[in-house]
Amino acid sequence: MRIVLLGPPAAGKGTQAKRITGAYNITHLSTGDMLRAQASAGTEIGKRIRETMSSGKLVSDPLVLAAVIEQVTRSDARGGFVLDGFPRTISQAVTFDDFLDAEGIELDFVIELRVDEQVLLDRIATRTREAEQTGNAVRADDTQEALKVRLVAYREQITPLIDYYRSRNLLNTVNGLQPVDVVTEQIFDVMKHRHEQSTIAIHNTAEQ
Ligand code: AMP
Repeated sequence: MRIVLLGPPAAGKGTQAKRITGAYNITHLSTGDMLRAQASAGTEIGKRIRETMSSGKLVSDPLVLAAVIEQVTRSDARGGFVLDGFPRTISQAVTFDDFLDAEGIELDFVIELRVDEQVLLDRIATRTREAEQTGNAVRADDTQEALKVRLVAYREQITPLIDYYRSRNLLNTVNGLQPVDVVTEQIFDVMKHRHEQSTIAIHNTAEQ
């Protein structure tokens, strides 16, 4: 199964992606994690990526696409993946689709986690406070200032992305403000429903 998980920062994408990949034994591909790994490598590009990420802005499309394409073509992702944090722009989505077409790979569906922005700001404030209290490192882009920039970037890009995936009949929206387990349950329902639909389609094609 190949899934794209969309949602603003702190919407719970990482948590849900881990649950999906655990239950379905597929690979979790987080562009945030890929870029953080590059940022900590100490190279010139890594330094630039770190600066961009700390400010809350988006890393340039070519860098992100190169990282995603490399990961998607790895053998452990061949059995399926959940993309968390990608695509963030319409041009990433279109270029990625062209790549998938060329490889003969199809996306199964897209899940959008919809969450109110004020709730996100409160969540980040709590996450930062808890990390400080327990002596854990606070992410450089989890400050209120960087989060506001990240939310603006998300808001600017999300509408065309949603329209794009809706027009391709891939979009499913889940209310991300519900308790974590309920969100997971609803995502699993979408997956089951999609799986049944594709099984029926394969069956019908075979009968023709
Ligand atoms: P995340 O862990 O998904 O919240 O991403 C953290 C940061 O990594 C973002 O604020 C961006 O700076 C960068 N990033 C992650 N995914 C992308 C993407 N698809 N396109 C551009 N920048 C990204």
